[in-house]
Amino acid sequence: MSLDYTLAEARCLDAADPLAAYRNEFIISDPELVYVDGNSLGRLSRKTIPRIHSVLEQEWGDRLVQGWQTGWYEAPLRLGDKLGELLGAAPGQVLIADSTSVNLFKLVCTALSLRPDRHSVVSDVLNFPSDLYILQGCLRLLGGERKLALAASQDDVHPDWSDLDRLIDEKTAVVCLSHVTFKSGYLYDMQAATMHAHQVGALVLWDLSHSAGVVPLQLDAWGVDLAVGCTYKYLNGGPGSPGYLYVRRELQEQALSPIWGWFGQNHPFAFGLDYLPAHGITRFQAGTPPMLSLLALEASLDLHLEAGISAIRKKSEALTAFAVALADQVLTPLSFRLGSPREPAQRGSHVSLRHPEGYSINRALIEEMKVIPDFREPDNIRLGFAPLYTTFEEVWQAIDRLRRVVVERRYQKYASERLPVT
Ligand SMILES: *Cc1c(COP(=O)(O)O)cnc(C)c1O
Repeated sequence: MSLDYTLAEARCLDAADPLAAYRNEFIISDPELVYVDGNSLGRLSRKTIPRIHSVLEQEWGDRLVQGWQTGWYEAPLRLGDKLGELLGAAPGQVLIADSTSVNLFKLVCTALSLRPDRHSVVSDVLNFPSDLYILQGCLRLLGGERKLALAASQDDVHPDWSDLDRLIDEKTAVVCLSHVTFKSGYLYDMQAATMHAHQVGALVLWDLSHSAGVVPLQLDAWGVDLAVGCTYKYLNGGPGSPGYLYVRRELQEQALSPIWGWFGQNHPFAFGLDYLPAHGITRFQAGTPPMLSLLALEASLDLHLEAGISAIRKKSEALTAFAVALADQVLTPLSFRLGSPREPAQRGSHVSLRHPEGYSINRALIEEMKVIPDFREPDNIRLGFAPLYTTFEEVWQAIDRLRRVVVERRYQKYASERLPVT
């Protein structure tokens, strides 16, 4: 197949795409720029701009502290319920709060206190390192004999399920995994892994950072106990927008947050001297929520709900499949290899391509080719596709420009010393 043929194919796929119109809902100031990093920082949705203007002018500007009476106070739960629709969670179980890291800390502590006689926390080597740091810090803080056990991976792409099987046993307090792993994009079978953990009485805590907004989720129906995630990736909340946490309703009254703040108190404005936990998910709130970035999330959540998560997933699978097919054809001969699962059902919405010169190729793409992917050590170029605004033609462009960087040896001038943020 010639490049011209596959470009024409990309254009046909775009013409037939039922979600195509959603691209206009986002700010795209440079149509030439191929942005394939929506899995790190999603694009700005158009409607967020007037919304935040009005929050600034009419709410903060005019109403000042009275703003808390006009919707701010309820916003973390109200938006949590909206997000819950995307996660398959009935109202009252999702709270927007803090960062993913802090929420993970809170819920790991909670899980360990719900299983006080069990000493092991199980995760895998594919997990986001920050999640592992949080687990390590938690175990150090709580002390005792508690240990972190990590399931292996033979190929840095898939977890070793037999190892995971072996590690999850009657001593396991909580199994803590990323639903979609950050590097290879491997997508766990959440229902199967949750059932497996429950068979031995362990809890599960899923990190949804790379799946919420692109993969259909049924947290309630699949029996998930706890979950966390972030809102600035596929959910387009903006840089540093708050994370969220899910606590299954049946666990809420026994579960306590390790951070006892007034926003999680039963009557914060009674200013009593002792902490009484609020009822329900609110007890997992610690302090004052970041109202500007919390409200910046809403317009994009509405777009996701309107488009429908199954249509989004369908396009996401088609985008990653198209990328893999093109990469097989034009990049494999140039020493690239696929760093993601081949099976679409095992992939999230990003594809990693590995190359020994990956770091310099990634730099050349950004500096010279108007493509923004990202790079993950040691050799992964990650292409993240956000179905609400990524086009098939952009996928084609990204792969073709990768090809040109190598064929034209453009990467050679980028020394391999690392920039601080990749
Ligand atoms: C992006 C991401 C985070 C982000 O954590 P922050 O506290 O927002 O910095 C955490 N975990 C995973 C798996 C992620 O992909």
